[in-house]
Amino acid sequence: MSTWKIDKLEVYLTKEQIQKRVAELGARISRDYEGQDLHLVAVLKGSVVFLADLMRHITIPHSIDFMATSSYGAATESTGIVRILKDLDMPIIGRNVLIVEDIVDTGYTLDYLRRILLEREPASLRIVCLLDKRERREVEVPIDYIGFEIPNVFVVGYGLDYAELYRNLPYIAIPKEGFLED
Ligand code: 5GP
Repeated sequence: MSTWKIDKLEVYLTKEQIQKRVAELGARISRDYEGQDLHLVAVLKGSVVFLADLMRHITIPHSIDFMATSSYGAATESTGIVRILKDLDMPIIGRNVLIVEDIVDTGYTLDYLRRILLEREPASLRIVCLLDKRERREVEVPIDYIGFEIPNVFVVGYGLDYAELYRNLPYIAIPKEGFLED
């Protein structure tokens, strides 16, 4: 079990900044899908906190479903192969699907997800991500709604983990010196 080193974290995005932006995204999505069907697909586990907040700012009827993926480690970088650990419960054919992602880094995960979901013939497929590490992108993925563009730094909190911890922090933080040492 890793130790809890919250004192070795520096806040990067405050709870207030995140809440304000998520509310804005929810309002925009509500406007864009007004009068239409909407189905949110979140990627476990990192996206659960973002999804839970975002959906409460979406004022139009919508349903949700989950998917879990894991990459093949180093192979992902070169091949973009992503393994599905948990598939969706419901079919998406003919539905307006909005993928809810916590963070886009190289883009491989989203690119793969996008391709397999498109094969299932949704009426439309868009992507919302909270954090976009643009400069790290290796494969181009169209992202329709972006919370924050961030530099190439490792972040934790608001659903994002380090060794499965820190997902519960209401803010997003960057590890300071000593965080990774035991
Ligand atoms: P991609 O396939 O775009 O390279 O990777 C996306 C996934 O990598 C995210 O869903 C997330 O699980 C993980 N990831 C990328 N950057 C970070 C980060 O800064 N912090 C954490 N905790 N996970 C990250």
